[in-house]
Amino acid sequence: MIQKIKGFKDILPEDIGIWQKVESVAKSIFENFGFSEIRLPVIERSELFKKSIGENTDIVEKEMYTFADRKGELITLRPEATASVVRSYIQNKMYAKEPERKLYTIGPMFRRERPQKGRYRQFYQINAEVFGIKSPLIDAQILLMLTTLFEKLEVLDTVTHLNSLGCPKCRPDFRKALIDFFKPVLSELCKDCIRRINTNPLRVLDCKCPSCKKAVENAPIITDYLCDECETHFFSVVDTLKSQNIPFELDTKLVRGLDYYTRTTFEIQTSLPGAQSAVAGGGRYDELVKMLGGPDQPAIGFAIGFDRLVEIIAAGQKQQEPSIDIFIAALGEKSNKMAYKWICELNLSGIKAEMDFSDKSLKSQMRKAGKLNAMYVAIMGENELNNGSVVLRNMKTKNQELVLIDNFIKSVKDKKTA
Ligand code: AMP
Repeated sequence: MIQKIKGFKDILPEDIGIWQKVESVAKSIFENFGFSEIRLPVIERSELFKKSIGENTDIVEKEMYTFADRKGELITLRPEATASVVRSYIQNKMYAKEPERKLYTIGPMFRRERPQKGRYRQFYQINAEVFGIKSPLIDAQILLMLTTLFEKLEVLDTVTHLNSLGCPKCRPDFRKALIDFFKPVLSELCKDCIRRINTNPLRVLDCKCPSCKKAVENAPIITDYLCDECETHFFSVVDTLKSQNIPFELDTKLVRGLDYYTRTTFEIQTSLPGAQSAVAGGGRYDELVKMLGGPDQPAIGFAIGFDRLVEIIAAGQKQQEPSIDIFIAALGEKSNKMAYKWICELNLSGIKAEMDFSDKSLKSQMRKAGKLNAMYVAIMGENELNNGSVVLRNMKTKNQELVLIDNFIKSVKDKKTA
């Protein structure tokens, strides 16, 4: 039997309910905040990700699914959505009509990471991106939008970590201070971090390795190195969040795995058991539009790990029994034809009605109704047809009543709306 590829998964019908709920709640909140949906290709030219995410990041160095297509062009299954949204903003000249754009997109991403619970090679993200707004108020507003979504989904056990990563003006000073700090204690760092020291020293700050965690305890703090503009911006975000009672924690060790972030950065973490605690992350990327060939427009956005969010919700709720409104147990050809007509009519009017299509005995049809968790079962055999009425049984209370065949559809509809 051909099996699915490691790190990829099927989302089965019994699990889809939470996915659909999250999606519809997210869409309705995002649209209230002025966001419009955009759908983008899952494959882009490899250079888009190399240029935006950064050559010296784990994603680009180790995790991308990159292929040469038949003509030898290097293409990549998108590892994240921001680069594609930016590409589309520039390519479709969205800025020309109105530079301020609020966009969201939901879809699969691909990273060749080591699979484990909460970490997949195909995973889904819900992304929201804002272009053209420099004001720190928008940073606070998208955090308000994100926390509102988590609250609506009753995912309350979260902490928002907040930091600023400065800008191209002030970050080089911090980078240098970090390198100077780590050089004398290089031997205390893991192999990856020793390599990162010259390419991406900020990543050492959030290395999960115990020896690195210890080594960074007294490392320089980015907020001490912010230029005046970055500092004003950051404290304005902090003040707005406080004034709106949006909870957060300052986390000066928070850096993100993608190079394009500037200024405000954040991550939402949960205490769900297991190593994968980050359920959403984002921040400003004021330089990226320009860097990818567009106009000088600021931007900010976030990505929610859809799979992880679903796992948190599922862990917090008892598996909901799937249930239908009515099961029609029919015996004999004539009754079956009548039952078929009825279920179709009920289905079309929004009622979940089912029947058996394979001439099973009454006993096994009742068993099927039980499995489907039917609220009502209608029993219809030759006798009932001849008498012009069917037995309608409430499966919870076990009450039975006789319903005239001519009145059947109306009775079922009345029960549904009662
Ligand atoms: P990032 O694009 O790396 O900032 O990730 C944003 C969010 O996507 C993370 O906080 C995770 O919740 C989720 N995520 C990232 N990588 C994976 C993965 N391999 N499997 C599942 N979720 C992921």
